[in-house]
Amino acid sequence: MLARVDPKMHIMAKRIFMFFLVLVLATACKTVPFTGRKQLNFMPNSQLFPMAFAQYEKFLKEHQLSSNQQDARRVKQVGHRIVDALNRYLRKHHREDYVKDYKWEFNLVKDPQKNAWCMPGGKVVVYEGIMDVCQNDAGLATVMGHEISHALANHGGERMSQGLIQQLGAIGVNVATQNKTEKERILWMTAYGLGSQVGVLLPFSRKQESEADEIGLLLMTMAGYDPNEALKFWERMEKMAGGAAPPEILSTHPAHKTRIANIRRLIPIVKKKAAKYK
Ligand SMILES: [Zn+2]
Repeated sequence: MLARVDPKMHIMAKRIFMFFLVLVLATACKTVPFTGRKQLNFMPNSQLFPMAFAQYEKFLKEHQLSSNQQDARRVKQVGHRIVDALNRYLRKHHREDYVKDYKWEFNLVKDPQKNAWCMPGGKVVVYEGIMDVCQNDAGLATVMGHEISHALANHGGERMSQGLIQQLGAIGVNVATQNKTEKERILWMTAYGLGSQVGVLLPFSRKQESEADEIGLLLMTMAGYDPNEALKFWERMEKMAGGAAPPEILSTHPAHKTRIANIRRLIPIVKKKAAKYK
């Protein structure tokens, strides 16, 4: 004989489930520092960063570093200047703890792609192919500031959280991330914009893009680079996108006209803001 579920128990179970769902969502709703936007993110750094560091190590083993020592040095210099500016910003807001688990690293990789990315925890890769578009250190600071800002604003964790909500439901998250299956690995890679390497592409949302532009622009300006160069950089990128094969970075970075108009609007604002952090 099968045991019948008491309908009252059933309702109770539903209520408990809802209670935990609300609890998960409430604790998962975080505020992006720098912009104050609320985001859904229940991926803790303690879980994400070790995965990111391991993936970065793996990437560097499988890819050749650039033999152009001068450019490789520039990538590191610009990266450190941006991080110095970031630390200044956080100190002023008494939020130094925000990056305490970050392990910054900046590498130039031998690859003709016009691309760059930053993994959670501050692991940056710039591809040789984008150096021509950057033209100068301010152009490089535009790209690196933008990618670093995606990581700082936890855009990957946010997308992963949204993806997991859709796929598994909030309750399943812990179970799902404990077993690092191939499917989960692909989801993770996709969430961090490395999708092209596993055959799936999931673009950052327009909101995340303009947020990364805004934070990146502030950081590069605070680091002493001319924000007008960001405008010139994206205009060069747009010109290249007109060709038959759009640059790699654009496949995850949509809406050029909107971006350029937005950056033009932001330049005087970030200049004013950056002056307060001198
Ligand atoms: Zn982006």
